[in-house]
Amino acid sequence: MPHTDCEPPDTSPVSWPSNLNDWFWQLRHRITTVGQLEKIINLTVEEKRAIQYSNKIFKMAITPYFASLLSKDDPNCPLRKQCIPSLQEFKTNINEMSDPCGEEEDSPVPGLIHRYPDRVLLLATDTCATYCRHCTRRRIVGSSETRMSTANFHQAVNYIKEHKEIRDVLISGGDPLLLSDEKLEYFLKTLRSIETIEVIRIGTRAPVTLPQRITEKLCSMLKKYQPLYISIHFNHPKEITAESKKACNLLSDSGIPLGSQSVLLKGINDKPQIIMTLMHELLKIRVRPYYIYQCDLAKGTSHFRTNISAGIKIIDSLRGHTTGYAVPTYVIDAPGGGGKVPIGPEYLISKSKSGVIIKNYEGKMFVYPENGKPFTQEEIDKANRQFSFVKK
Ligand SMILES: *Cc1c(COP(=O)(O)O)cnc(C)c1O
Repeated sequence: MPHTDCEPPDTSPVSWPSNLNDWFWQLRHRITTVGQLEKIINLTVEEKRAIQYSNKIFKMAITPYFASLLSKDDPNCPLRKQCIPSLQEFKTNINEMSDPCGEEEDSPVPGLIHRYPDRVLLLATDTCATYCRHCTRRRIVGSSETRMSTANFHQAVNYIKEHKEIRDVLISGGDPLLLSDEKLEYFLKTLRSIETIEVIRIGTRAPVTLPQRITEKLCSMLKKYQPLYISIHFNHPKEITAESKKACNLLSDSGIPLGSQSVLLKGINDKPQIIMTLMHELLKIRVRPYYIYQCDLAKGTSHFRTNISAGIKIIDSLRGHTTGYAVPTYVIDAPGGGGKVPIGPEYLISKSKSGVIIKNYEGKMFVYPENGKPFTQEEIDKANRQFSFVKK
């Protein structure tokens, strides 16, 4: 892959025991200590200290599979920075919050967030295979490593049944694919039995951090609960390996449409060329880019945060320059619970009774007349002034 910041990983499982393809084995052997990680990569003094203290704020856990993708010597490896704690996490910026998207306030019953009129978010577990250091839900994720209790699930189900306007349930966490097939099926079957539910979605990072989880058995179970959509958290082209590709193929072949959600992360993927490569690689494995998130204001994540203008520039570099399917929506999840707000380059230069003046991807101006009323010279001059302002 051309645009990577550290040497390519050795993913060939030549010397791996056969049970490496077993997801239970991967979970049982998650790396959680300096001693275990040191056997695989050369840690810096800073990384070691951060790992030692990380349990106090947000635990470290890395699957052996994901660890095999990390650069052995480069602490700036884009995958290394996503899963190895940094001392920077111990600093809280004044804008940061424990619940940056105001989820607690929109939670009518435990584990359920009802923000938008017709859809809800269900937090099915607080466990992940590998904990992302940029996690927005680090206030709860990983703390107890438990799944939603049956009592809480039924409270959520009752709420959904009582609110007939809800037609879409997004199961997230934590990572819902860390539930057993049986538990997950129980959740899906129960939700599917609610007449008003049209669409079920799962948000996961399993194809990236635990691709072994995507088994044929899992897929034939998921297949029964269509329409089911899966959104996968991919952040860097190096995460697309033979294993993750196979996992995505199995899901797609089961008729499950796949989308991606990426977080813009400083020094990891905040360059147009890296995102362009990632989007192209995703389309090649039948994953349709869905969202790119501005990094939420979660406590201890300021070292990951890019400027909004970097995000706008990335979208500007995609739209029109490549396949429309490769262009995700860049969103800010509004602090305090406003929901996802799309932001991006400005294509509408001006709007008047005569119509609109627009900018294309090459930066050329075009006039789209409406109402059969010609644009006045004054309107065009004004648009030109605004245009030179937008261009800056
Ligand atoms: C992201 C999110 C959703 C789903 O939003 P879509 O734009 O429909 O993908 C629903 N509820 C909450 C609380 C969310 O954060």
